[in-house]
Amino acid sequence: MRGEDCFGADDRRLLHDEALDLLARLPLPAAGQETIKLSEGRGRILAAPVIAPRNVPQHDTSAVDGYAFRHQDFDPCGGFFRLETRVPAGHPAGQALTPWAAARIFTGGVMPEGTDTVAMQEDCRLEISGSQSVVVIPAGLAKGANRRLAGEDLAAGTQILAPGHKLRAQDLAAIASTGTAAVPVFTRIRTGVISTGDELVRPGTALGAGGLYDANHFLLASLLESCPADVTDLGICPDRRDALQLALSEASGRCDVILTSGGASHGEEDHLLAVLERIGEAQVFDLAIKPGRRLITGRAGDCLIIGLPGNPVAAMVSFLLYARPLLLRRAGMPPAPAQGFQVQAAFDLPRRKTGRREFSRGRLVTLADGTVQAELYPRSGSGLISSLREADGLIEIHEETTAIHRGDTVRFLPFSGFWA
Ligand code: AMP
Ligand code: MG
Repeated sequence: MRGEDCFGADDRRLLHDEALDLLARLPLPAAGQETIKLSEGRGRILAAPVIAPRNVPQHDTSAVDGYAFRHQDFDPCGGFFRLETRVPAGHPAGQALTPWAAARIFTGGVMPEGTDTVAMQEDCRLEISGSQSVVVIPAGLAKGANRRLAGEDLAAGTQILAPGHKLRAQDLAAIASTGTAAVPVFTRIRTGVISTGDELVRPGTALGAGGLYDANHFLLASLLESCPADVTDLGICPDRRDALQLALSEASGRCDVILTSGGASHGEEDHLLAVLERIGEAQVFDLAIKPGRRLITGRAGDCLIIGLPGNPVAAMVSFLLYARPLLLRRAGMPPAPAQGFQVQAAFDLPRRKTGRREFSRGRLVTLADGTVQAELYPRSGSGLISSLREADGLIEIHEETTAIHRGDTVRFLPFSGFWA
């Protein structure tokens, strides 16, 4: 299929939101499924709902170390209770208490039948006479104090998590607390990364005249790890059409997604579009954004190919904005915008060229009064990897914004919010 220019006939560049909309409608194969051990679940995407098979906690238990008693025996002015039994955590509560008796109980201990309230040990006094111990419980305890009800955290049958959810530490804790040892997840997507350019060499080798170390491989391979994805290093491809065609055709059979960087513009040394048209199909996105003007998506068989710009800053921004939603959708996650928030600008941008969306590198600073502001990376030159390294995220500046003054509200997209 011919490479389609998403602008159509006119020369208008595609707006950021239009590009997101088109990408959201790009057909993608469904993710595969597997069941894995809970210990391998972090960062994986659920393929089916997780339901609590039992109550958590299983019984009414004590929330503190103290004395469990029956509130109906309790005189609101305080009370004396015979100490009748002892219930450490993890042991059965034994038989029901007789009236006006209390149980020595520890955090997590099962409440003996009939008891409903626990007094904290530090509030009580123990009086021992011969073989009989009496606990003096102070006034004022409400019925049910310091007791955890069975099913209070999770009731049996509750849906804990929905399909498409990416498992975090606290989710794994919740699943473990129900006794479930395995979870159904989508399989990791198989991704490959190719850097293109005659100038590129890998770190650890000598740099010839005109050479440049391949930074993008390390950038993209690391970004992919949050996906979740298995990453194959497909190496560096020289600026030759036959070499790129061979590399892509060969890898497309064993990858679900291939990311390329470089060689995606209009120059004679840019071969990606022509190769994709030959081996499958391609779509070109000429974008009204900065940094990163062009993105190419394509398909070879079932493999999605995403052509990112070569400039590392544009490559990272394009990856986060456009490759990320495709990758997450391919991996089984429902589409969700990156998390962002409003902060104060710590900079002035008095006159701004309108018509394109800007994603400038920004750093968050907290003022003495607690206000959070975003600083703009001060040096010019959009190709500086230093700007990415010194940034906490992207300051999003809308197409129509004509000026920004210090103290104005701007939208900030933290790097961490792209994977939340
Ligand atoms: P291109 O998109 O191929 O025209 O590349 C644009 C700029 O990004 C050029 O200056 C390239 O040298 C640079 N570049 C391309 N690929 C990489 C890479 N893998 N690592 C670092 N810089 C790169
Ligand atoms: Mg190049």
